[in-house]
Amino acid sequence: MAQRYAYFEGKFVPIDEANINIQTNSFHYGTAIFEGIRAYWNEEKNQLFGLFFKKHYERMVANCKILNMKLDKTVDELTEITVELLRRCEHKENVYIRPIAYFPNLQISPKLIGYDTELAIYTVPLGDYLDTKKGLKVITSSFRRINDSMIPARCKVAGAYVNSAFAKTEAILAGADEAIMLNTDGTVAEGSAENLFIIRNGVAITTPSYSNILEGITRNAVIELLKEELGVEVVERPILRSELYIADEAFFTGTGAQVAPIAEIDGRVIGTGEIGKITSKLQELYFDIVKGNVDKYSHWLIPIY
Ligand code: PMP
Repeated sequence: MAQRYAYFEGKFVPIDEANINIQTNSFHYGTAIFEGIRAYWNEEKNQLFGLFFKKHYERMVANCKILNMKLDKTVDELTEITVELLRRCEHKENVYIRPIAYFPNLQISPKLIGYDTELAIYTVPLGDYLDTKKGLKVITSSFRRINDSMIPARCKVAGAYVNSAFAKTEAILAGADEAIMLNTDGTVAEGSAENLFIIRNGVAITTPSYSNILEGITRNAVIELLKEELGVEVVERPILRSELYIADEAFFTGTGAQVAPIAEIDGRVIGTGEIGKITSKLQELYFDIVKGNVDKYSHWLIPIY
């Protein structure tokens, strides 16, 4: 693999030199805002396409605001740094990009005031995060989703992922691929790192942004594709656990997860257990678009080279 670089506290450095002090405040209290972004390699076009950079950085800037974190970079500057970083790494494969903003101060106290803000970005080659071909085995977690009065789920803040880690671990220990988390009122929230859609009677249903979900960029993109390209009605409303079991199709969406079909939830087979018709059409279209093969959606992408 070529030398990997990171953008670290204002400079591009070899990744091995991008290290924080163990006394770093955010490392202790989970008060770091991060993003997960993808870039897709297109072999025929000899091109790397960055996906939704602007939308990810808009969300990052908004999340920094929630955390009272003063990030001194604009969405355009963050995008430029990322493009430059990818060029330096000379990636010719699918990559995941991880920006993270944090309080670098070597001070003990969990608070959101009186600290500086630093930024790091690194990249890592990544294929599928969840299997996109087989239909996933999923459980509902016994760990409930955090809510806005505890840690806002819309905020991609490091500490919130303890909640995800509990759920994901429960899934792994149960021999499943992924976990769905419920809210404290029993309605469905989302997967440990994915939004969730079900299809019933030809209608796509997904949990609304007030259901303690991360407002997924893939979720929004998929809503657009379902409506505009596949002619499928999309309803955003709370989903009950029992509705999951009788769905005709179900799938996760996310930057990492992409469009990942679900075959089984809590031992109930979803539909026929095969990848559903709508899910499979959607998945095909999504992969075509992100690899830069659909002109109509080229505005979702930034060519890196
Ligand atoms: N929910 C959670 C908890 C996540 O971590 C992610 C991944 N970022 C998503 C949903 C999907 O969001 P996106 O499509 O923006 O990646």
